[in-house]
Amino acid sequence: MISIEEATRLVQDHLPSRRVKRVSLAEALGMVLAEAVTAPEPSPRFTNSAMDGYAVRWEDVEKASSGQPVRLRVVGESRAGAPFQGKLGAGEAVQISTGALLPTGADTVIPMEDTDGETAEILVRMAAGPGKNVRIAGEDIAPGEQVLTAGTTLRPNHIAALAALGVSEVKAWARPQVAILVTGNELVPVGEEPKPGQIRDANGIMLELLCRWLGAEVILREVLPDDPDRISQAVEEATERADVIVMTGGVSVGSHDHVKAGAERAGFHPVFWRVWQKPGKPLFFASAKDRVLFGLPGNPVSAFVCAVRYLAPSLRWLSGREFGWDTVKARLARPVENRSERPTFFQAKTHCASDGGTELSPCPKQGSHMLSSLLQANSIFLVPAATEWPEGKEVEAILYPWG
Ligand code: AMP
Ligand code: MG
Repeated sequence: MISIEEATRLVQDHLPSRRVKRVSLAEALGMVLAEAVTAPEPSPRFTNSAMDGYAVRWEDVEKASSGQPVRLRVVGESRAGAPFQGKLGAGEAVQISTGALLPTGADTVIPMEDTDGETAEILVRMAAGPGKNVRIAGEDIAPGEQVLTAGTTLRPNHIAALAALGVSEVKAWARPQVAILVTGNELVPVGEEPKPGQIRDANGIMLELLCRWLGAEVILREVLPDDPDRISQAVEEATERADVIVMTGGVSVGSHDHVKAGAERAGFHPVFWRVWQKPGKPLFFASAKDRVLFGLPGNPVSAFVCAVRYLAPSLRWLSGREFGWDTVKARLARPVENRSERPTFFQAKTHCASDGGTELSPCPKQGSHMLSSLLQANSIFLVPAATEWPEGKEVEAILYPWG
C-alpha cells in the first residue's frame, strides 16, 4: 500500500497531455488562456464624446470659462452610430450624444446642462476647460498592447473587454473530456423510488458537477451493474473519447468488485491500488495510451474526498492551471483525535473568528457513509495516524474547489 504523497506523485506523473483549442468567446467562459491576447485595435476606437451636449472649438468658448456666456450656431448633430459628416468651423457647435464621434474641428464637449439646450443657436454658460468631456482614441488601450496574459481564467468581465476590442476567438486549453462510470447493482437514479436494499446514486451527479465545475466536459455518465463484462465494455467505449474516466464503487476486495479487472481487460495498466489513508483506502488509479482512470470508492464521502484530493488537481492541470489545491491556514475550533492507524482526512468548515483569524471546525460525524459532513463542510484537512490535536492548533486545510 502506498502513501498519500506517493499516490499524488503517481497521479501527477501519469496525467494525459493537454491540448490547445481555438474557441469563440461564448465558449471560452471559464477556460484558461494558452496564449496572451493583444489588442488588435485601440480603445476607445475613435475620439468621442463622454457626455450628451455640444461639440465645440475651445477657442470659441474660452470666454465662458471666465463668466462671459458665448453664443454658437448649431450646424448639425453627431449621434452614436451616425457621425456628423462635415467639419466644425469658427462660431459653430454640433449637438452630440455620449459615445458619438467627435466631429473634425471640434476639441471640447460642453455638457447639455451648461447651455440653454436650444437647437438652432445655443448659449454656452460655462466651459470647464479645453478637451473636457472628450474620450481620446486609444487613451485606454493602445493597438498591440497585451491585454491578458497566458494563464488567465476567462470570466465575463474579460470577455466583455475582448468583445469590445474585436477579439472574437482565443487560444485556450481544451476542456478535458471526462466519462463517468458509476457501478453498483443497488443503485437507482435520483427521482426513482428505491426498492428494499436499493439506494439512490449520489456519486454520479456529484462527480459530473465537480468535473464540470473544474472546467471539464462530461461526455458520458452511465450507471453499470457489478458485471465484469459490462464494466470492461463500458471502459473500452469510454476510452475512445475520454481523457479521464472516473469510476465509483466496486474497487474494494468484495466478490462483486469488478472495476480493477474490468479496467485491465479494457487495456488499462494499474498504477496503484490502495492508499494508506482514510477514507478512500481502496482508491484505484490506472493509465492507458494518454488516458487515466480513477476508480473511486463507492461511499459518498470517500468518493468525494478522493475526488477533491486527487481528481480535482488533475482536472485543474488538464484545463491549463497548476496541479494543486487552494489551501487555507486555520486554527482548530475544537480538538481532533485520529484514532486510526492511517492518516485521516477530516471534513471541516472554515469560518471567520471574532479576532479576524480563520477557524476550522471538524464536522461531528466523519463516517464515510454519513452525508451530514457533505452538507456542512467546505474543506478537508489531514491528521496523521494515531494523533490528537488540541483546540487552537494551526493546521492547513484544502478548500473544496469552490471554496
Ligand atoms: P462499494 O465501494 O461498491 O463497496 O460501495 C461502498 C458503499 O458505497 C456501499 O454502501 C454502496 O452502496 C455505496 N455506494 C456505492 N456507489 C454509490 C453511489 N453511486 N452513490 C451512493 N452510494 C454508493
Ligand atoms: Mg459495490
